[in-house]
Amino acid sequence: QPSMASEKEAALAAVPSHSHTIFDKIINKEIPSNVVYEDDEVLAFRDIDPQAPTHILIIPKVKDGLIGLSKAEERHCEILGRLLYTAKLVAKQEGLEQGFRIVINDGPNGGQSVYHLHIHLLGGRQMNWPPG
Ligand code: IMP
Repeated sequence: QPSMASEKEAALAAVPSHSHTIFDKIINKEIPSNVVYEDDEVLAFRDIDPQAPTHILIIPKVKDGLIGLSKAEERHCEILGRLLYTAKLVAKQEGLEQGFRIVINDGPNGGQSVYHLHIHLLGGRQMNWPPG
C-alpha cells in the first residue's frame, strides 16, 4: 500500500506534460480498472490507493490539453461542468447521502501526480479541514 509520503513524492516527481498518462490506458481498457460510471465523454473509476471508503476518480475521456485545471480554457467549460455533474451522480450511486468531498490537485504544490485532469470524489467517512 503506497504511503501518503510516496504519493507526495510521486507528485513532486511528476513532470507536467501533454503526453499520454496511465489514464489513457484505463480509458482504452489496456489496463484493468474498476469503472463505476461511463458515458461518451466521462469515465469514473475507483482510485487504486483509496484515501476514504469511497474514492473515485472522474476524468474526461478526451484530454484536449486539460492536463490540469490550471490549463483550462473557455472551450473546456462544457466538459468541466459535465465532470462536476458526474461527481454528483456517482456520489448518489455510491450512497453518499451524508455528504462527500471533491478535490482537484493541481501542479506540484497541489500534489498532482497524473497530468490528465481528474476530480477525486471522496466519501464514506468524516472529512477533516484543513486538508493536508
Ligand atoms: P493526483 O495525485 O491528484 O494526480 O491523483 C492521481 C491519483 O491516481 C492518485 O490518487 C492515485 O492513487 C491514482 N492512480 C494512479 N494510478 C492509478 C491506476 O492505475 N488506477 C487507479 N488509480 C490510479
